[in-house]
This record gives sequence, structure tokens and C-alpha cells, in this order.
Amino acid sequence: MIKEKINELLTQLPTQVRLIAVSKTKPVAAILEAYAAGQRDFGENKVQELVEKQAQLPKDIRWHLIGHLQTNKVKYAASFVHLIHAVDSLKLLQEIDKQAKKNNRMQKVLLQFYIAQEETKFGLELNEAKTLLDSSEYQALQNIEICGVMGMASFTEDEAQVRKEFGELHAIFNELKASYFAEQASFSEISMGMSGDYQLAIEAGSTMIRVGSSIFGGR
Ligand SMILES: *Cc1c(COP(=O)(O)O)cnc(C)c1O
Repeated sequence: MIKEKINELLTQLPTQVRLIAVSKTKPVAAILEAYAAGQRDFGENKVQELVEKQAQLPKDIRWHLIGHLQTNKVKYAASFVHLIHAVDSLKLLQEIDKQAKKNNRMQKVLLQFYIAQEETKFGLELNEAKTLLDSSEYQALQNIEICGVMGMASFTEDEAQVRKEFGELHAIFNELKASYFAEQASFSEISMGMSGDYQLAIEAGSTMIRVGSSIFGGR
């Protein structure tokens, strides 16, 4: 089943859109099934679960940390995580830089933006991101590479609302690209779209969709 779901999703994806299979709460066996189907990008939202699974699974998997990250947890994942999607403060960025340095790596990250109507979602506002990027503290960091933006739309049936929010994230990406990252080719990712809204996200310019329950079943 997992294999069929992945192949079905892949046939719908334009070539510039990468599928992140969100395997949180799912067993290693399920991940191996997806791996056997050729899937290499997996997303987890808890550091401890990520670390446990990484130890048991093939080393060519690219692990994406997609959930909110606490500074005191960064060190556990710093030696291997491919991309950290949910960076929303300078303090977190500084800790990621420090741990990346210890591991002699460049750590790729995305800045998470607040685009939904719900109160509970994490993320930056555009002005906060600009303040961060303008700061001398940010400019001193040497072991992080900001590769784009990430966001979650409101959990709603209202397609127009979801389209509007994804459009906002794309506009934020364009603004930051023009003002701060015009010379940096690797600033190219817009991580948006989940099981319920990935088609809308792709239409709005997503380059990475994070899909869990459509592949692995409900949680
Ligand atoms: C769980 C999760 C997803 C995947 O959600 P599904 O609805 O199962 O596809 C995507 N992004 C984040 C940040 C998540 O926590």
C-alpha cells in the first residue's frame, strides 16, 4: 500500500517539487517499505523519535526535521539532519550554528513563517525575519545556510483561504530572495503543502510537500 501511495503521489508532482514523506509516529518497518519504493526524504517532528529512527535505518536517507525545535534538543540531531524546516528565532539559529560547527558541517535550514489564522502555529512575521537577517548576530553565523521558507496553512475547508495563505508565503519568499539572497542560488525552497492541501500548495509554487497520512495512513 505504501509503495502504491508514493508512486501515485510522485506521478502528480512536477519535477521541481520534492516529496517529503512524513513518518512521525510510524514504525521503522513502514519507513523501510517507503524506502524500498525509492523514497529517500523523510520528515519527523520530534528530535528523540528522529534520532532513534535514524540509528536503525539506511544512512542515505535525508532526514527533515519539520516540527518546532527547542534549542536544548538541537545537539542530538546536529550530526546528521539534512534540513531543519521550522526555524523561527535568532536564538535557535545561533544554537544550530554552534552545533553545526562542532560537527564540522554546514546546516541547511528554512525560516518558518506564520501564515495561518490559527493562534497556535509557530513562525515569524516578515518584519521579524528582516530584523533577524539585518542583525550583526545573524551575519556572524558561519555554519548555517538558509535555503528558503516554510509554512503551514490554516486547517480549513475554505480553499480560497488556503490559496491566499500559500500565496502569502510565496510572496515572502520572493521578497527575501530579492532583498537578501539574490546572490545565493541555494535559497530556492518553499516548503508548503500537507496531505489535505498539497495540490493547492503546488499550484502556489511549493518546492517541497510534507505528506504523512496520505502515504502512511492516519495517526
Ligand atoms: C504532521 C506534519 C505534516 C504531515 O501532515 P499530514 O496531514 O499527515 O500529511 C506536515 N508538516 C508538519 C509540520 C507536520 O507536523
